[in-house]
Amino acid sequence: MQYRFNPQLLSLTPSASIALMDKARAMKAQGLDIISLAGGEPDFDTPAAASLVGIGAITAGQTHYTTGRGMPRLRDRIARKLREENGVPATADTVLVTPGAKAAIYCAVRTFVGPGDQVLLLDPAWLSYEAIVVAAGGEAVHASLDFENGYQITQALLEAAVTPRCKMLILNTPNNPTGRVLTMEEAEILEAFAKKHDLILLSDEIYEKILFEGTHLSLGSLPGLRDRVITVNGFSKCAAMTGWRLGYLAGPKEVVDRIYLLYQHIFTCVPEFVQEAGLAALDMPEAVAAMTESYRVRRDAFLEKLQTLPGFRCIVPQGAFYAWAKVDRDADEMADFLLREAGVVTVPGGAYGENSRDCIRMCFAADPADLENAALRMENALRGE
Ligand code: PLP
Repeated sequence: MQYRFNPQLLSLTPSASIALMDKARAMKAQGLDIISLAGGEPDFDTPAAASLVGIGAITAGQTHYTTGRGMPRLRDRIARKLREENGVPATADTVLVTPGAKAAIYCAVRTFVGPGDQVLLLDPAWLSYEAIVVAAGGEAVHASLDFENGYQITQALLEAAVTPRCKMLILNTPNNPTGRVLTMEEAEILEAFAKKHDLILLSDEIYEKILFEGTHLSLGSLPGLRDRVITVNGFSKCAAMTGWRLGYLAGPKEVVDRIYLLYQHIFTCVPEFVQEAGLAALDMPEAVAAMTESYRVRRDAFLEKLQTLPGFRCIVPQGAFYAWAKVDRDADEMADFLLREAGVVTVPGGAYGENSRDCIRMCFAADPADLENAALRMENALRGE
């Protein structure tokens, strides 16, 4: 049978980090001594109190379809959070609850982007943005931020990349993979740029609370940007709820209404018991802060070791839970070498953009003993070459 697949999707490739996590699992299952730093999720379980609320909701029969954009109580609470913590002027009817941030990003991109349209990504960029743009029928164009310049967003880099076909720019702060956090100066550059080129800004803030330095800045809080920012956030990373699949977006009402039209035909709703657990998690700042503190301790210890590895140059991440290092060779080669000689799984940077083919990403939301061991094994392998 010659399947006539959608030609627009033929360029999709598997997610490098998911493929590497699967590979590490398979190698471990064969009894090999593998330490995987390829993942992208908290190693904590969901705070028990949130899980119990979810379980209670299941046993109470909250297992039916919910209609609309999410439970009104949850949308109210998210809107309050956005107003009070982020300065984003949201109300319950400008919030859409989604099955994970990924679904929010897909629906938002799909609502604006079709064949012939382009979306500007700031590389290094999370690897699913390009796939989502392609899945929406569009095309990604890339502004290559510079490692040597601390990946600062500059007007010159944006202007060099933008085309008349660009409709949207996707920003991610704190950033996966670099751990970098948006500054006010950069936000102002983005504001002027978006107005000049009439762009929608999608601001992915999924790592918001996993912040070690600086303050989190929501693009949607800039008064001049309120009619062109879609804020995306979720519960996966900060509340350790990756498997629950719960996220949300907020934006101008007319935009959210449009996105909801697409959303309801594809996702219908997020399970109500998941929404109840999320609602509970929004009122657990101590649990979230304790997890972030634990990541900070691990970041400091792991980075201290990484910085001494031959050929490694690291950025100290201000947020998220990834170490990002420039290495002295092609990243695919380095990742192969580290897997073969040290039994450590890393993600080669090419997945995050062409300008990162000499960088690797390592997740430090891992067992501290594994992190120490991984650093030691990488050091021995690199020094023994
Ligand atoms: N955005 C970024 C930058 C991410 O790193 C991830 C997960 O890796 C997501 C979005 C997806 O989040 P969710 O689990 O809510 O779909």
